Amino acid sequence: MMNKIIYFDICAFIILVIFICSMLLKRQVRDRANSLLLLIIEITTLATVGDFMAAFVENTYESGRLGMILANAGNYLYFGAHNLIFPTCVLYLYATADIWHIFKQNKKAVTVWWSIIAVDSVVLLLNPLLHWVFIINENVDYIRRPGIVLYYVSGSIFGIWGLYIILKFRDILKRDKIITIIILYPIIISAVVIQAIWPDCLVELLGIAIAVLFFMIVLQRHEYQIDPITGAMKYTTSVDRITTLFKMHKPITVVIVKVVNHSNLRLYLGQRLYNEYLHMQTNALSNIAYRHNYPVDVFYFSNGTYAYLSDEYDINKAIPVAEEVKEYMQKPLEVDDFTVLTDARICVVRCPEDIDEFSTMFTFVTTFHETMEDTKDVVLYMEHRNDRNFMIRNEMDEILSEALKENLFEMYYQPIYSTVEDRFVSAEALIRLKNPKYGFISPGIFIPMAENSGAIHEIGDYVFNAVFDFIAKYDLNELGLKYIELNLSASQCIEVDLVDKILHMIATKGIDASRVSLEITETAADINPTVVDANVQRLYKEGIRFALDDYGTGYSNIRRVTSLPVEQVKLDKSFVDEIDNPQMWIVIQDTIAMLREMGKEVLVEGVETEEVANKLTAIKTDLLQGCELIQGFYFCKPLPEEEFVEFIRSRL
Ligand code: C2E
Ligand code: MG
Ligand code: MG
Repeated sequence: MMNKIIYFDICAFIILVIFICSMLLKRQVRDRANSLLLLIIEITTLATVGDFMAAFVENTYESGRLGMILANAGNYLYFGAHNLIFPTCVLYLYATADIWHIFKQNKKAVTVWWSIIAVDSVVLLLNPLLHWVFIINENVDYIRRPGIVLYYVSGSIFGIWGLYIILKFRDILKRDKIITIIILYPIIISAVVIQAIWPDCLVELLGIAIAVLFFMIVLQRHEYQIDPITGAMKYTTSVDRITTLFKMHKPITVVIVKVVNHSNLRLYLGQRLYNEYLHMQTNALSNIAYRHNYPVDVFYFSNGTYAYLSDEYDINKAIPVAEEVKEYMQKPLEVDDFTVLTDARICVVRCPEDIDEFSTMFTFVTTFHETMEDTKDVVLYMEHRNDRNFMIRNEMDEILSEALKENLFEMYYQPIYSTVEDRFVSAEALIRLKNPKYGFISPGIFIPMAENSGAIHEIGDYVFNAVFDFIAKYDLNELGLKYIELNLSASQCIEVDLVDKILHMIATKGIDASRVSLEITETAADINPTVVDANVQRLYKEGIRFALDDYGTGYSNIRRVTSLPVEQVKLDKSFVDEIDNPQMWIVIQDTIAMLREMGKEVLVEGVETEEVANKLTAIKTDLLQGCELIQGFYFCKPLPEEEFVEFIRSRL
């Protein structure tokens, strides 16, 4: 009797034990795929132990009861474990491709899966009586019986099943994953065939161990998916996950938790403790879900935003979890020696009903707290689906691209009144958007969103075109207007080709640069001083005027007023809103005096009443120089082009 070659099994065993240790020791995502992978490794190890034990006993014992018992035990262990390897691999493929739900919902597939395992097991259990699979003779030799073919058939079915999954869902699995799995087929098939032809050459389990090695390298969800700072899954992982789930039309529930006061907390705690705070919140969120038996992954999306992603579609299971999160968030939290209060907003979204695209999901997750009313209660997306503002914000990307394509923008002009000349001397161009579904949408809403999405550049080009056309079409002199002001967003100020674009347009439309005044904001002057400065300086040299808009909001960066060639400073409406406050009145007068002394033209925005207009006009008599320009509803609201021209002509 030839001795069985057991060295391959020893190798396989060593490899598998290393895998088990590494999987248990390494910090990693405890999800279904990884648990199944660990299970595959464990079963393969058991099969290897059984195989080795049987072979060792068969090699060592020539005869005797003990040898027979041990050889039988080894073989039963081998077959029992072995029969589970391929079915578990099939489950693993479903889990790793995030299509577990497809398997779960397919009753036929589940039945077939269980039936094969049942048949294999029953045959194995009956083997001591029927000897269909194998028999150990008196010489402690292992003899195969025809029934063993059953296991080859079962193995092949699961093999083909795996291949079917890979091919059918190839769009979801990444290319490298597909290639790896396909390469594994010849490896495993050769190992199985070699052992089938030469039963003494025990290479099969080594082949499987190598396959597992590939799984671990290419397929396994690694710890890099976890953000080391927060302990939650990273944003990048969520992109993959959510995109796949949407592609598969898999219904999911997402609970979003936004810590609104995250920047205050960071300031208060300092970066190190803030990180600890984020970590504590991740743990708390995981624990709450765990207590509710609610299967989730906790993702962290930056800026204090967490998202629970769950395969569990039933919103009634998500709501109690969200409610408990709410209660937990309202309690003070001890971080080191500090006690902090979290201000959180919580929203539950069902996909795909509520949101069915990743970009929408992302915009929503990062901005939902601005869109929804300021409530600490758990907000259900579905209850807000019909809010006008909410819908507008969620559909903003489409609204803007439609508006650009269909030309749904229009420029309005608001006259600017000179208190010195007692007439209208210029105007500000303000964009308007008319949407077929929602009607008028305020630039106060869509401009900031366009800045976020990048659509602002195209919108900006539209504004240049329309306003320059206006300047070219009318004789501003005849209208008594010196220039038209147009708003430039912060992100436009850093466009590299901004200057060439404007100069080119001015030249082709044949207008004079001095007729154009660009309004920039303090934020623009702050974002990238070098590029902004370069752009502003070049345009200024070409004769274009500049105004600093919304002065006094945000950071009052006096240095920007002095360093940029702005001729006009526009005091924000928030100043006049408080004009009755004596302290504010002092601020207004002194600010105006200071800016006038610096040689700037001062414009006050948002003047709505005669009283305020008079008060401002009167400043010039009190002080050496005063407020020269006023803009506001008191004089005139922004008007469409023709009405505006008519209005100005009527006041000439
Ligand atoms: P802004 O540049 O500060 O424009 C002044 C805003 O105040 C305008 O709002 C104007 O209609 C409004 N306003 C003027 N007088 C009064 C008043 O007496 N009372 C009140 N309550 N409001 C007054 P609008 O047109 O809604 O624009 C809002 C903001 O959107 C603008 O603030 C500007 O930042 C931005 N925006 C508007 N058009 C454009 C544009 O073409 N390009 C860019 N980048 N931003 C624009
Ligand atoms: Mg403005
Ligand atoms: Mg303004």
